[in-house]
Amino acid sequence: KKLVIAVDGYSACGKSTTAKQVASVLGYRYIDTGAMYRAVTMYFLDHHISLTNPKEILKALQDIHITFKVNSKGKSETYLNGLNVEKEIRKMKVSEMVSQVSTVKEVRNALVEQQRRMGKEKALVMDGRDIGTVVFPNADLKLFMTADTLVRAFRRQKELMEKDQLVDLDEVMENILQRDKIDTTRAESPLRQAEDAIVIDTTNISIDEQVDEVVRLAVS
Ligand code: C5P
Repeated sequence: KKLVIAVDGYSACGKSTTAKQVASVLGYRYIDTGAMYRAVTMYFLDHHISLTNPKEILKALQDIHITFKVNSKGKSETYLNGLNVEKEIRKMKVSEMVSQVSTVKEVRNALVEQQRRMGKEKALVMDGRDIGTVVFPNADLKLFMTADTLVRAFRRQKELMEKDQLVDLDEVMENILQRDKIDTTRAESPLRQAEDAIVIDTTNISIDEQVDEVVRLAVS
């Protein structure tokens, strides 16, 4: 049985949807590392932290405490310094800044350390961009998710719409491509497919099929 499952890939490929459901089927903990980078970004925006001032960044990181709590519907939600920010961190304002914030070495060091600590409890599904390559290079199962860009944009737009956020398809698409570009070209832990990762292209498969496939891989 695979106890540490790493899910990496490009933006809006269905990583978190799949990871969440797989964790629920297997009874594992689910950790959304993108939410952690988003929470840091929200704090930086709110406190006008300059990305070129490492001292200010380190001070801010000391004041940032990110936790996850499962709500009454069984859904894991993100808390920043005790405040539920789950809704806020999904807004375009945060999406537009998060990849830039994620290039900062000090930010990555702090979050990777916390993610590794969370991994000590074992039996978890963690999704992000550097889980199989940096956070848990010895993960028991590594997945790398991809999908056609237009399909990704449609799905993300629908998801935002369900959260009462109306965003143009063009704008969603541009944000996805922009984040992929920054994530794959940054100096610090760029998004890469781990050598031993299994690629899952979600363009033509349903969420149920994605979940079944990953669960099959996890228990085999
Ligand atoms: O997963 P999500 O799309 O919410 O992540 C938002 C952004 O956070 C990504 O585009 C990426 O810039 C950053 N990120 C990262 N490393 C991770 C998870 C997310 O750099 N492990």
